Amino acid sequence: MPSSPTGAVPENRAHGAFLPRVRSIYIHSPYCVRRCPYCDFAITLFRDRVPPERFLRSLELEVQRRAQGQSPRTIFVGGGTPTALKPADLDRFFQILEHNLDLGRLVEFSVEANPENLRPDRVAVLVRHGVTRVSIGAQSFDSTTLRVLGRRHDAQQIERSFALLRAAGIRHVNIDCIYAVPGQTIASLDSDIARALSLGPDHLSTYCLTYERDTEITHARGAGLVKPLSASREARFYRHIRARLAKAGYEHYEISNFALPGARCLHNVSCWRHQPYLGLGPSAASFVSGERRQNHPRLADWCARIEAGEDPTIEREALSPERALREAVMLGLRRSAGVRSSSLRRAFGRGFEALDAAALARLSELGLIDLSPDRIRLTARGQELADGVAEALL
Ligand code: SF4
Repeated sequence: MPSSPTGAVPENRAHGAFLPRVRSIYIHSPYCVRRCPYCDFAITLFRDRVPPERFLRSLELEVQRRAQGQSPRTIFVGGGTPTALKPADLDRFFQILEHNLDLGRLVEFSVEANPENLRPDRVAVLVRHGVTRVSIGAQSFDSTTLRVLGRRHDAQQIERSFALLRAAGIRHVNIDCIYAVPGQTIASLDSDIARALSLGPDHLSTYCLTYERDTEITHARGAGLVKPLSASREARFYRHIRARLAKAGYEHYEISNFALPGARCLHNVSCWRHQPYLGLGPSAASFVSGERRQNHPRLADWCARIEAGEDPTIEREALSPERALREAVMLGLRRSAGVRSSSLRRAFGRGFEALDAAALARLSELGLIDLSPDRIRLTARGQELADGVAEALL
């Protein structure tokens, strides 16, 4: 389905409501057992006293009001920890989607999971409801690194949950890893990669540890209790991951993502290609009809708004054509394929002529971008400094 210059898409007038059609739907399941020290996501702890039944009732209403009859190609269930829900609640979660969406055209159904709660009963629920891809939040196989990250699982649990998924027939399994963790060395990183590869995942995501505002690890850094790695060591770790995974046959298709041929995450690729998507659940972001929206991040407030028949949106911004083009460039640069002038022109009526020519020339001279008449791509060095490149260009 082609999108218009502003990302607007044909309408779906099911149930008389204005429901723009989207190919991708994201659903946020907010529960976690505890908050990891580096995490600033919108999560809810079970002890916060918003019971899953209330979340599920509100989710059902939101799906009915905003997504009824949609026939997405990709669904991504993130969190939070979707697999922290009890099997019966997880089952209900998927039933809500099945009863209200048309899943006949679905080609990818991704769910995030944590090793500590990915047990046979939950895996059975995922399989029963047609999940095709599971992303395991492993982060590391090293007990010291896991301790610094505040994770409660161990390497054996990661291996067990991976084996469970494969035995149950889930073909696409991603392993999420975090690198540049205080105390981590190239040797321990290398051992993490080796253990991840020994499982045979078809996808790996590797994220540099970031010190978000107001997180426990950032406070610990402020108090001198943890010592972050230098930027040059972070870059060395990144280069090591890139080289190691390239040698193992993984395509580096996005700054943080590596896949075996045919195993890229279609949902995320669609977002990086600036395609529309609908977000449901607390804190979920949407990009529909050229407008970015975000749902209320607090579970209790999101539920209350939905229960009162109100719109759970807390923020919305209609993108100007200029802003939309800049976003498309920024997202496109994340992909190894880069961004094409002809695609920008098709979508926005303007190609690279809309960008700062002097900045482009400077970035090219510095060896941070590969510049050709129709394509800009980050070089290997540019990928290490991606945020700075995007800032200089936009
Ligand atoms: S499990 Fe994931 S979402 Fe939950 S607190 Fe930890 S990092 Fe955040």
